[in-house]
Amino acid sequence: MSPMVKDEDVELSLVIPAYNEEQSIETCVREADEVLARIGRPYEILVVDDGSTDGTFDRLRSLKKSVQRLRAVRFRENRGQTTAMAAGFEHARGETIVTMDADMQNDPADIPLLLARMDEWDVVCGVRTSRRDSFTRKASSAIANSVRNRLTHENIRDVGCTLRAYRRRYLLRVKLFEGMHRFLPTLLKLEGARVIEVPVNHRPRTKGANKYGVANRLFKGLRDLYAVRWMQSRYMRYEVKEEIE
Ligand code: UDP
Ligand code: MG
Repeated sequence: MSPMVKDEDVELSLVIPAYNEEQSIETCVREADEVLARIGRPYEILVVDDGSTDGTFDRLRSLKKSVQRLRAVRFRENRGQTTAMAAGFEHARGETIVTMDADMQNDPADIPLLLARMDEWDVVCGVRTSRRDSFTRKASSAIANSVRNRLTHENIRDVGCTLRAYRRRYLLRVKLFEGMHRFLPTLLKLEGARVIEVPVNHRPRTKGANKYGVANRLFKGLRDLYAVRWMQSRYMRYEVKEEIE
């Protein structure tokens, strides 16, 4: 892309939360940059460093010399994945926001597939059809997905896949709380967003450590579930029948 593109021209923002991902962040950003450059729309790659204590931010600093469309925001301390994503939504300049993990489990080659559906949909969620995680992780996700869907009257197949595309104006309408990125499709539906799921590739984590254990994900997730149910039941809806002015 031409170096003449101005900030206000950015249409597409790729938001990547990263916590202690020094081993993968460089390849992740380069890989994404190649895919995005081919799409031919003005873009930015915005990495939110969620208070990493390793060399993640140093890698970003040196990466900036060769990846011109890279931006990075660094938290003082670790605040969690949803918080990092929300900061990304606030700092992003594009009307279309794509999110992706920093550990290279998502495949940026899928981004054009997500974007292709954005003409008719407001949120396009990836579904990891052949997920490359351990049996325990996959089994616990399957249980959590089914409980969540039942209790929130949803049919989201894969809440844990963060490879998604969103129209930014819907994202800015919801008040997020830590943990809520898993419920984003449901919360955005409440705001009237049209949500669809598409199959995406998934790769094993070969570098760095997983940030969640089975137990902390499951129990935190269940607590959040009640908050989402409450929000659904209290969501303010009305239709004006008549008006006198
Ligand atoms: N992450 C983050 N803050 C945290 C935990 C995780 O920004 O406190 C990031 C992490 O660096 C990665 C993404 O969120 O880019 C997903 O984390 P992970 O790969 O460990 O989770 P999983 O693939 O199991 O969902
Ligand atoms: Mg991962």
